[in-house]
Amino acid sequence: MRPYPINSVSIVIPVYNEAQSLPELLRRTETACAQLTQTVEIILVDDGSRDNSAELLQLAAERVGSPVVAVILNRNYGQHAAIMAGFEQCKGDLVITLDADLQNPPEEIPRLVAEAMKGYDVVGTVRGHRQDSAWRRLPSRLINLAVQRSTGVAMSDYGCMLRAYRRTVVDAMLACRERSTFIPILANSFARHTTEVVVEHAEREHGESKYSAMRLVSLMFDLVTCMTTTPLRLLSIVGFGMALLGCLFAVTLIVLRLIFGAQWAGDGTFVLFAVLFVFTGGQFIGMGLLGEYLGRMYSDVRARPRFFIEKVLRAPHAPVRAADDSTNSSITSSRTAS
Ligand code: UDP
Ligand code: MG
Repeated sequence: MRPYPINSVSIVIPVYNEAQSLPELLRRTETACAQLTQTVEIILVDDGSRDNSAELLQLAAERVGSPVVAVILNRNYGQHAAIMAGFEQCKGDLVITLDADLQNPPEEIPRLVAEAMKGYDVVGTVRGHRQDSAWRRLPSRLINLAVQRSTGVAMSDYGCMLRAYRRTVVDAMLACRERSTFIPILANSFARHTTEVVVEHAEREHGESKYSAMRLVSLMFDLVTCMTTTPLRLLSIVGFGMALLGCLFAVTLIVLRLIFGAQWAGDGTFVLFAVLFVFTGGQFIGMGLLGEYLGRMYSDVRARPRFFIEKVLRAPHAPVRAADDSTNSSITSSRTAS
């Protein structure tokens, strides 16, 4: 891992009805950024707020010499879409995201920058004193395990949005055309070296969480579908298991029927169950097959880059043969096309 020189840092913050937190957020973020030696821009994306957040952002951006860039969306698109809109506008070598509700302390920004300069592509954070019950932590652990298997890199906390991403990773994420996504996981699929730092996690001071139960469920689905199409394959596996059990059940019934006679078998009623199992299993297998096609269509439609070239290294004055040249250009163009 090589050190990564950072000349500019962009902070991207999604804002949805956070007018009460904004003055303090801006003050604390600007103070934290003043400690950095790099040039800094603070991009605040108003995600269709219904309070006066958008006006506050515009005022902050209009101050002379202000590092604030206000990006105003016409309506509410959701936290991750808003962050993507911010990514589109930012120019920094390192991009840091955080929440506007001050649950993520902006004072941690310099630490994230220091970590990223060591050469990490993605710097995540772990909420230090997360006091959740065991049943609340279990889903997190399962998700972490699944993410680790599907992206190859491990992290322990995907819920904390205070994160730093290197320019190349942000560009790769922008190249993905999917509508619903879960940024921390998408970023990990383009990262080579990742690390996590422990940060404080504060209670929300103003307003309430913007995630109702329904939106949390939808976020959960975004998270799963952004990562894998395995649930579709699961249909086939369940179907196959069911059909197999049905067959075993039928064989057992027939054997017992031969031993104990027709009376025992309830005149064939149970065999009907066995047949039903086999047919239901068959139906599931069929659905799973449809799922396989659907999964392939899904990954084609979201058109993620087929692969992600971090960098291409060549000796400074090495003669480039014509054949090599054509191979390289075909790889590059297939990435751009996909
Ligand atoms: N947010 C947003 N659009 C939304 C919902 C939330 O931009 O539709 C922003 C919100 O302003 C905050 C961040 O996303 O800056 C996290 O939201 P929240 O604090 O409600 O989530 P929680 O901390 O409860 O997970
Ligand atoms: Mg919050």
